[in-house]
Amino acid sequence: MTALSNITLPLHRIIPFSNVEGAGNRISIFLQGCKLNCLYCHNPETIPRYSADSKRVSLRYLYDQVQDSMPFIRGVTISGGEPTIHHRKLVPLFQALRQLGLSCYLDSSGFFEFEPMQELIALTDKFLFDLKGSGLGLQALCFERKNQSGKVPDNLITTQRMKSANLTRNLDNLRRLLALGKIEEVRLVVMLDFVDSYELIEQTATLLKGHPEVIFKLIRVHAKGTRDPDGITAYIPDIGYMNQLEQYARKCGINKVITVC
Ligand code: SF4
Repeated sequence: MTALSNITLPLHRIIPFSNVEGAGNRISIFLQGCKLNCLYCHNPETIPRYSADSKRVSLRYLYDQVQDSMPFIRGVTISGGEPTIHHRKLVPLFQALRQLGLSCYLDSSGFFEFEPMQELIALTDKFLFDLKGSGLGLQALCFERKNQSGKVPDNLITTQRMKSANLTRNLDNLRRLLALGKIEEVRLVVMLDFVDSYELIEQTATLLKGHPEVIFKLIRVHAKGTRDPDGITAYIPDIGYMNQLEQYARKCGINKVITVC
């Protein structure tokens, strides 16, 4: 417990009871900081490493908050921001929480370096995994860190090119986590034009073969809470498009498809 008292993390907020952050009733802990900058982020205040809304707390504090939610929870979900940027510090917390008999989930963008994360991955029961895409539109959608205002660009052609390693990291990590049985849910936020949703569904279906238990969630982007709601609105797909995507996902062989409109 001494180690838990000495290690600190930037906390954005805690939801003591949630049933939408993985299986069963869970406590959701939202940490501060994310390396991405998704235009559709509806929690943009969690992106900076430091924010007036966040506070530094010890792992012991988080552990105590979890204990306060027991016995009404099945587990803990660490979200963000992006929790994997704190992966080393989360190791002793997950070790302690597992000793309480709780399952430990990570809600992740899926963009992290796999090798340094191995210790935390071993302690993680399941990931709720964001599918971001693999084309160049992903640069404008999620990687323009200089666009701090989150303004949706008028012209999607980007001058900056992503490194090729970044283009495939998301899907590579999904493939490796599936092989370990660590994926509960894959989520795709559907926003028109930036990424080819049909191609992504095909790639995901290939990866999900042999994993019928994994939920595939298609989420229609919404403008509420984003930094540029007017800009986002122009790229919101209609319900018909979402239904077509769902049917296509089923046709490609994905078993559990849920559409959130
Ligand atoms: S990865 Fe998640 S927290 Fe980070 S910017 Fe994108 S939507 Fe927001």
